[in-house]
Amino acid sequence: MFIGAHMSSPLSTVPERTVKIGGNTFQIFSHSPRIWKISVNESEREKFKSEMKVWNIDANKVLVHASYLINLASPKDEVWQRSKALLKEEMKIAHLLGLKYVNVHPGSKLKESLEWGLKRCAQAIKEVHDDSPKDVTLILEIVAPKGGNIGYNFEQLQKIKDIAKVDLKFTYDTCHGFDGGYDITTKRGMEDLVNEIKATIGMKNLLMCHLNDSKYPLGSAKDRHERIGRGYIGIKGFLNFFSFEEFQKIPLILETPGKDEEHAQDILTVRKIFSQLGINNTK
Ligand SMILES: [Zn+2]
Ligand SMILES: [Zn+2]
Repeated sequence: MFIGAHMSSPLSTVPERTVKIGGNTFQIFSHSPRIWKISVNESEREKFKSEMKVWNIDANKVLVHASYLINLASPKDEVWQRSKALLKEEMKIAHLLGLKYVNVHPGSKLKESLEWGLKRCAQAIKEVHDDSPKDVTLILEIVAPKGGNIGYNFEQLQKIKDIAKVDLKFTYDTCHGFDGGYDITTKRGMEDLVNEIKATIGMKNLLMCHLNDSKYPLGSAKDRHERIGRGYIGIKGFLNFFSFEEFQKIPLILETPGKDEEHAQDILTVRKIFSQLGINNTK
């Protein structure tokens, strides 16, 4: 299994801290996610790359999460232009770090129509894709249906890909999905989820999973992550989720509250769930 957490900076400490919390993969921000300007620290980057080798972490399982400022569906032209420019920068940084995947939210269309938002996002994705290093792939993350967000189901995510006509991959976030009504706590809910993925993006294009419990009940659209087993998905819910083999092998990235210590506990919780299901959960 591949498991890890969203790790705080400094970047060069992330590979070692990942192993210390019992993980073998991770997610990072490549720069401060709440400011537009990117500051470059070359020695830190080089150290990060050598630490990846020292701790034997597979770059193909690692995610870079794009800045929260980016809104690829924004109706405001200035925000849209700056978003595309920043995402292009992030693709370049990922390349310089030796990483392969940049995870981004489809964005918010605000008061525009859904169709308009999907097209706007797709156009931005195409521009970013065409102007980025070819060894870095964009990954669209399913989001919670709040604040004009687009991309809260797989049909919308596939439409963006269809319009953009580029090679896009996808991340499932268990909290966002739960917010949008995907009930992964029942067998029927999981069958529906898997069938929907197969009928839209295709299982092979679902590359990553953000593993979060939810502070609010099914369909709440609140986007409030909770520690594994302490929310409305719960241990029983995750037991059901992981009984579907489609979700046993893709990298699982925690975005749960807390720091390294809490993440270590959550990773242990997930390993116990795998053990209970009789799945080999060694690294
Ligand atoms: Zn995200
Ligand atoms: Zn997420």
